[in-house]
Amino acid sequence: HDFVRIVDLTKIYGETVAVQSVNLTVQRNEIFALLGSSGCGKSTLLRMLAGFETVTSGQIFLDGEDITSLAPYERPVNMMFQSYALFPHMTVEANVAFGLRQEGVARNEIHERVYEALELVQMSPYARRKPHQLSGGQQQRVALARSLVKRPKLLLLDEPMSALDKQIRHNTQIELVRILDQLGVTCFMVTHDQEEAMTMASRLAVMTEGQIRQIGSPQEVYAFP
Ligand code: ADP
Ligand code: ADP
Repeated sequence: HDFVRIVDLTKIYGETVAVQSVNLTVQRNEIFALLGSSGCGKSTLLRMLAGFETVTSGQIFLDGEDITSLAPYERPVNMMFQSYALFPHMTVEANVAFGLRQEGVARNEIHERVYEALELVQMSPYARRKPHQLSGGQQQRVALARSLVKRPKLLLLDEPMSALDKQIRHNTQIELVRILDQLGVTCFMVTHDQEEAMTMASRLAVMTEGQIRQIGSPQEVYAFP
């Protein structure tokens, strides 16, 4: 089966059709990007995948399971927030552990999983630092560790690099793709940044006014703008 299958998904706010009958599939291990300008409906679609927003109609399947009506915490899905969403007063280790503490995971297991996640992003030497003592790229890797520690089947990314300076953005994108590929994590990202989509995505869709207009590999989409 398709790893993610979005069927006739629609979201209406009052008079506004934010997402209109979207059909999409994402394969396992793929980094899929939804590209579109502000107001096209991409965040609404992402929030429906996360479960932060109810759907007006349609269905979302993940690994064969209908997750459309599940609460966010019941979904094997995790949203990676931008690095500025790290808790500034907490160490790297505490930031990464936070979600597991909330879930009531046992202390030993938390420690093990936190260090495993920090190793994956090569940040274990920085475990005792606070976010402001790290570079932007390092903070972004901590944000990724905070998501990976939950072992989601699907990782959601919302404009993942927009908090970073242009100079370090590209390297961080490439680094992130390398880590995600290595781990075989399936990703669904939304961005308005064409370069970000081109650099990171294995497949991408272009959205305008709540609808998917084009879909394919970056080369295919780029060839027919
Ligand atoms: P994007 O993420 O592409 O900028 P959004 O998904 O945020 O777009 O918004 C799509 C459309 O839905 C916009 O017209 C926006 O104004 C509208 N919208 C988004 N969220 C809400 C909301 N909570 N209530 C009413 N309208 C909303
Ligand atoms: P706009 O839609 O005008 O670009 P928003 O404030 O709606 O700006 O934010 C855009 C996206 O960034 C939202 O979809 C939201 O999920 C995300 N976002 C906003 N604030 C935060 C935050 N503090 N941490 C992480 N993500 C955030």
